[in-house]
Amino acid sequence: MKELSHFINGKHVKGQSGRFADVYNPATGEVQAKVPLASPAELQSAIADAAKAQVEWGNTNPQKRGRVMMELVRLLHRDMDKLAEALSSEHGKTLPDAKGDVVRGLEVIEFCIGAPHFLKGEYTDSASPGIDMYSMRQPLGVVSGITPFNFPAMIPLWKMGPALTCGNAFILKPSERAPTVPLMLAELLQEAGLPDGVLQVVNGDKEAVDTILDSETIQAVGFVGSTPIAHYIYSRATANGKRAQCFGGAKNHMIIMPDSDLDQVADALVGAGYGAAGERCMAISVAVPVGQKTADALIEKLVPRVEKLKVGPYTAGNDVDFGPVVTAAAKANIERLVQSGVDQGAKLVVDGRGFKLQGYENGFFVGPHLFDHVTTDMDIYKQEIFGPVLSTVRADSYEEALSYAMDNEYGNGTSIFTRDGDTARDFANRVNIGMVGVNVPIPVPLAYHTFGGWKKSGFGDLNQFGPDAYRFYTRTKTVTSRWPSGIKEGGEFTIPVFN
Ligand code: NAD
Repeated sequence: MKELSHFINGKHVKGQSGRFADVYNPATGEVQAKVPLASPAELQSAIADAAKAQVEWGNTNPQKRGRVMMELVRLLHRDMDKLAEALSSEHGKTLPDAKGDVVRGLEVIEFCIGAPHFLKGEYTDSASPGIDMYSMRQPLGVVSGITPFNFPAMIPLWKMGPALTCGNAFILKPSERAPTVPLMLAELLQEAGLPDGVLQVVNGDKEAVDTILDSETIQAVGFVGSTPIAHYIYSRATANGKRAQCFGGAKNHMIIMPDSDLDQVADALVGAGYGAAGERCMAISVAVPVGQKTADALIEKLVPRVEKLKVGPYTAGNDVDFGPVVTAAAKANIERLVQSGVDQGAKLVVDGRGFKLQGYENGFFVGPHLFDHVTTDMDIYKQEIFGPVLSTVRADSYEEALSYAMDNEYGNGTSIFTRDGDTARDFANRVNIGMVGVNVPIPVPLAYHTFGGWKKSGFGDLNQFGPDAYRFYTRTKTVTSRWPSGIKEGGEFTIPVFN
C-alpha cells in the first residue's frame, strides 16, 4: 500500500502519529494510498520552522517573489498531464475537467506574478508642511489554508499564490480525501525557487485543523469546505484573534425566463448541474423556470439530454461526461436524499437509482437524476446534495423565482437566462448572492476579480484571490514622517491636528 507523506522544510516527511486515512480511487472503490494524519506536535514543529523561514522570505523583494510564481506557471503547464491524472484518480472527475481544475488555479498564479503592484502601499506627500504620510502593506507572518476535496489543485493555488507573494509563510492542510496534488504543488514550488520551509503541506484531520486554529503563531486562516465546518473554523479562529475567511456550501439557483432560448438553457443546465458529478460549489442544483409553459417545455428538453449523459471512469478520457462521487459515504448520502425527494412527493423524471457500470461495480458511481415539482420544504431543496441531482422548482412569476434565490440560506452563485436586458439588470442588482451569471450558468470570476459567496456560503469580510486576497494576507502600517526640523522642538501634548 502506497504511504503518502507531509511536505515539510522542502522534503517529503513520513507521518509520525501512527494515524492514517484511506485515500480511494472512486472509480474502482479501492484504497489506493494511506495519508498520514498529523499530530499536534508534528504540526507545531512545521509551524515553528515556517516562522523561521518566513523572516528571509518576507524580506525578499516582491518582484523576486513574483518571479517564483512566473516559474510555477511554466512548471504547471509542463506537468499538466501528470497533475490531472493524479487529481482524477483521487477525486474521480474526468481528465479534461481535472485539467480545468489546474488551469483555474494557474490563472490565479499568473495574477500573482503582479504582486508588487498590490504591495505598493499609499503615499501622501506633504500631508502638512514638512510632513509626509505613507502606508505599507506588510506580510502577516505565518498563515494557513484548509481546503476541500473537490478542487485539489485550484483552491490550494488560490490560497498559496497570494499568501506567498505577500511574503508570508503558508501552512496548507489539504483534504485528506485528495492529498496527492497538493503535495505535487509543493514540489513544483520548490523547483520554482521557493525557499524550504516557506510552504509546509501538512496532512491531517480535525486534530490538525484545531492545532492550526489554536496556534499563537498562525495569523490568518483561509478555509473552503462545507458550511458547518466553515462556521466552526471562522468562530474558533476569530475567537483566537486571527483573521479568517471561510467559504461554505451552496444551493445555486438558475432562473429561466419565458423569453430565454430553451435549447441553450438545457445545454447549460446539463453542464452546470451534472459536470464533476455535481461536486462543485458553483454547480446549479436548482432550476427555476418561470411559468408552467416554460417549465413543461424545459423538462421536455432536459429529459433526453440527462438520460444521454455518459457516466464512467476518468480513464475513458473524453468519452465520459462525469465520473464517480468521491466516497461511498457521499454516494450513500446522495441516495438517501434522492429517496427522501421521492417520499416527500417530488416527481423523479429521470431516475438514476441503481446505476451500475460493468467492470466498476465497486466504484462510487451515481446515475444522473432530474426532479420536477420540487417544493421548498423538501430535504432535496433544503440540503446541499453535492451529487448529480438537479431539482426543478416551478415559479409563476419573476418575483416568485427571485424570492427563491433570495430566501435560500446559501448565497454562493446564481444565474438568470433571459433575452431581456431590463430583467437581467434588475436580477443582478437585487439578488443577495455573491456571484451572478447572466446567460452564463457557472459565473466563476476570473483571477483579477474576486471569488466569494454571501449568507451561509461565506464568513468573513474579504473574498478569495484578486485584490481582496492582497488585503487579507497583509496588514497596513501607516507612517507619519517629518524631516528634518520640528521634532527636536519639544513634546506636544494634544492630539496632532493637521491644518
Ligand atoms: P469539508 O467541510 O468536509 O472539509 C473541508 C476541510 O475541512 C478539509 O480539509 C477537512 O479535513 C476539514 N474538516 C472536515 N471536518 C472537520 C472538522 N470536524 N473539524 C475541522 N476540520 C474539518 O468539505 P469537503 O467535503 O471537503 O468539500 C465539499 C464542500 O465544500 C461542499 O459543501 C462545497 O459546497 C464546499 N465548497 C465551497 C467552495 C466555496 O468557495 N464556497 C468551494 C469548493 C467547495
